[in-house]
Amino acid sequence: MFAAGELDEAGESVRLFFALWPDPAMRAALAEATRYAHALYGGRATRIDTLHLTLRFLGDVAPARIAPLCAAAAGIRARAFTLAFDHMDCWRHNRIACLGASETPAPLAELVAELETVAIALGLSSQTRPYRPHITLARRATCGQENPAPQKLLWTARDFVLVRSSLRATGARYQQLGRWPLL
Ligand code: ATP
Ligand code: MG
Repeated sequence: MFAAGELDEAGESVRLFFALWPDPAMRAALAEATRYAHALYGGRATRIDTLHLTLRFLGDVAPARIAPLCAAAAGIRARAFTLAFDHMDCWRHNRIACLGASETPAPLAELVAELETVAIALGLSSQTRPYRPHITLARRATCGQENPAPQKLLWTARDFVLVRSSLRATGARYQQLGRWPLL
């Protein structure tokens, strides 16, 4: 059963999103931040091998869309950039503990805009909320009164990926469907 979205003739859909995927060094730094967030806020820590930064969530789409999505992604010419994660946050409305970046570098905003154009060209629904770069470290967190002092974590992005998500009770499983370089 799918809550919403597109179905193909076989009645199947796939849940997709574009993301930045950390390299081993960045993943190690994020693993440390995850342990810290979990110690602070409890909840369900993100599995280390699934840590990522979402660029554009696409939702449930027909599998036939994957090939045109990959072709359009391959046509994107966006610059590489460095993103500074400068604070730990805990959002009460959805109980998510995350690392946040208060500044969105121009090339990241341009990449997100390009992905929006790709999504719209394929007839997917538009993103109404403004883009807020964040990395989810724990879910069902118990947010306290204060978050820890800022600790800067720099992520240099050199490529982006298209990911398929399969929702499970123990946390989503992800499968990379494509990877494209930033310039
Ligand atoms: P779970 O939903 O089981 O907790 P998850 O959120 O990691 O796991 P998905 O719901 O498939 O898995 O989401 C994939 C990525 O897209 C995550 O980074 C998630 O934060 C983000 N995402 C999900 N829904 C939206 C949405 N409506 N708008 C923006 N980003 C979203
Ligand atoms: Mg989710």
